[in-house]
Amino acid sequence: MSKLGKEMLVGFVPVLIVFLIFLGVNVVPVVLAGVILFSLLYLTRMRGNLGVSSSERKGKNRAPSYLTFDDIGGQERAKNELIEALDFLIKHEEISKFGIRPLKGILLTGPPGTGKTLMAKAAAHYTNSAFVSASGSEFVEMYVGVGASRVRDLFKEARSRAAKDGKDSAIIFIDEIDVIGGKREGGQHREYDQTLNQLLTEMDGIHTADTPRILMVAATNRKEMLDSALLRPGRFDRHIQVDLPDKKGRMHILQIHAKNKPVADEVSLERVAGETFGFSGAQLESVMNEAAIYAMRDGRPDIGQHHFSQAIDKVMMGEKTDREATMEERKRVALHELGHAIAAEKVRPGTVSMVSLSPRGQALGYVRHNPQQDQYLYTRAELEQQIMIALGGAVAEEMFYGGRSTGSRNDFEQALQLVRTMMDSGLTALGIIDRQMVTKEELMKENSAILDELHAKTRDMLEAYRPAFEQSLDILIQEEVLTGDQFRALLASVETTAQTSA
Ligand code: ATP
Repeated sequence: MSKLGKEMLVGFVPVLIVFLIFLGVNVVPVVLAGVILFSLLYLTRMRGNLGVSSSERKGKNRAPSYLTFDDIGGQERAKNELIEALDFLIKHEEISKFGIRPLKGILLTGPPGTGKTLMAKAAAHYTNSAFVSASGSEFVEMYVGVGASRVRDLFKEARSRAAKDGKDSAIIFIDEIDVIGGKREGGQHREYDQTLNQLLTEMDGIHTADTPRILMVAATNRKEMLDSALLRPGRFDRHIQVDLPDKKGRMHILQIHAKNKPVADEVSLERVAGETFGFSGAQLESVMNEAAIYAMRDGRPDIGQHHFSQAIDKVMMGEKTDREATMEERKRVALHELGHAIAAEKVRPGTVSMVSLSPRGQALGYVRHNPQQDQYLYTRAELEQQIMIALGGAVAEEMFYGGRSTGSRNDFEQALQLVRTMMDSGLTALGIIDRQMVTKEELMKENSAILDELHAKTRDMLEAYRPAFEQSLDILIQEEVLTGDQFRALLASVETTAQTSA
């Protein structure tokens, strides 16, 4: 009923009742009947709402028929593993001939935004299945007390949707399965337990001969949290890891999202892929989108390389903020960032891609590094280099101000994390250790030894570049941004002057 219709009804009914009373009619039975009818209608509606997830109501549930595995960038291994598993659903006759039990559940694990939902949707298209989805949090956040019935409804919904769409299989996708499938510790979370038990019961009820054949696909980024009952054979026994994309994968994802955007010919997506190490598919999609927004704001007909550069900064660090720093603060931040940048350029030449003084997110300035290639394994020397880059900011402040500021907090966290990695990987003087085996004092002693030595090394290294700080400072304060190439040219000119005067 439209809003207007409802309002008219609300106005009309009391007037009618008053009119009937005026005529001397006994309105009590009519009012009672009205109240009962209204309550029944209201309950039916509530029930309808409970049976359908919020995403379903918004129509998000239907797999767009055109979403295929080709629309998913990178993830070749995960896609192949999934396709292999899906053939179980397609070749069901062969499978039952061999007496193989049906594959009931596939678990996709991996960091957020890597394309797990896309995979489930593509799976529905690949197998010509009906698709229904829900998120683990929907079972507990909105439907407290009815989690189990919501699970039943989800299976019912999958079956009826398959029947309606004339499909003989259905895929049920549950995102964030860890919310309902967490380890049962007994007693405390009875609501969660009931929901999980219902899910297990429904999965046990899936048989090969049934039509429609049901396949559960679930996603989580915390597989270790899941109850073992969910992972045992016959339940979610196919596990597919969906990782952050490597450079080739990032390039592929960027190409997919560039399809509907006017990207300038001069743009090297390979460079963008190189500068986005550690980004998920969702972040790469966001980079594309933000770059397009920057281009549109600039009034340009197409997206240029610098728009991508700005977009990467935005996705990595957050939107530019209007925080007005004082001149003294700006100077300190500039020296701090130059400390990071000079240290980076000295220990890993060619890796600085930008030094910026514009505040973004929580940072007042930042240095963007451009790893020349993806790296997953680090030696002790490489970890030490990273620590020196992290300490470079604080060391620069000490050199020019005789002390540090709160601006080094994150750098120290990063340095400490790197030391922890070194310790856990057996790369320190402590040898191969389990942290429980050594005392706090021993850990602290080793931690200080490493950081003190690297701090001194960084200080020696940066002291030799005092003139570079002084020369770059004014330019950075004025221009706000130094590109990697400008910065390297400045460093080179300072080095040449030093050599000729020596
Ligand atoms: P979460 O764990 O947070 O639910 P997810 O792994 O399910 O995340 P998706 O919802 O599939 O991630 O991805 C979010 C968006 O990111 C997609 O709509 C798509 O635009 C983009 N995206 C992520 N991964 C890829 C990919 N491999 N190829 C293309 N686009 C991707």
